[in-house]
Amino acid sequence: MGFNVAVDGPAGAGKSTVAKAAAKAAELVYVDTGAMYRAIGLYLLEKGADIRDEEAVKKLLPEISVSIVYEEGVQKVLLNGNDVSGRIRTQEVGEAASVTSAYGAVREKLLHLQRELAASSDVIMDGRDIGTNILPDADLKVYLTAAVSVRAKRRYTELVEKGEEADLSEIEKEIEERDERDMHREIAPLKKAPEAVLLDTSDMNIDQAVKALLVLIFERRIKRLACEQ
Ligand code: C5P
Repeated sequence: MGFNVAVDGPAGAGKSTVAKAAAKAAELVYVDTGAMYRAIGLYLLEKGADIRDEEAVKKLLPEISVSIVYEEGVQKVLLNGNDVSGRIRTQEVGEAASVTSAYGAVREKLLHLQRELAASSDVIMDGRDIGTNILPDADLKVYLTAAVSVRAKRRYTELVEKGEEADLSEIEKEIEERDERDMHREIAPLKKAPEAVLLDTSDMNIDQAVKALLVLIFERRIKRLACEQ
């Protein structure tokens, strides 16, 4: 098995920014599993499917193929062979992913792809159930989180900087709803694995969070190398 790092945590905690930067510094492949759920969400929205109807979603799954390729080290997510990496980054697609990722058949569809990627490379994989379900034997598990108010403020600033309209209390409400759904669904809910290291970034900037993650990665790498000798 490759050297595997599992990073789980709620929406907007900065997982992808932090994991991506740490992956680069530690020469690991960054795998964003949320993008895979988003690709399925995008397909369903474009198809005009009722995403709240689990049976209807299940019937459409055989039409959907999600794969991952890397171009100059950057992950691209392909939906039925087309690069949808840009189009999946909307609030609407995120919501569709959050609703449909609660369905067992959707999770089952992506489980093998995620495990195959981790078996074939040294990875940092970010998601919701990586440490608890997908990679139970990961070398390092991290639960990366931040207070709801901090996550909402970061998202607000990001939107304002892009020149988009934003309402802080609306964003906070959306984040709370997403947390509620991700943490309380029946299958593979978001929760901290008992052995995962808690990284609360509420009072950290990105640099500090990346450094904290890198320290953990290098510690585990040395530990694994020592065990292999
Ligand atoms: O991380 P991101 O916001 O892109 O993920 C979109 C949605 O996909 C999440 O809200 C979550 O419901 C779902 N997801 C999941 N399991 C993962 C990754 C994402 O259920 N491993």
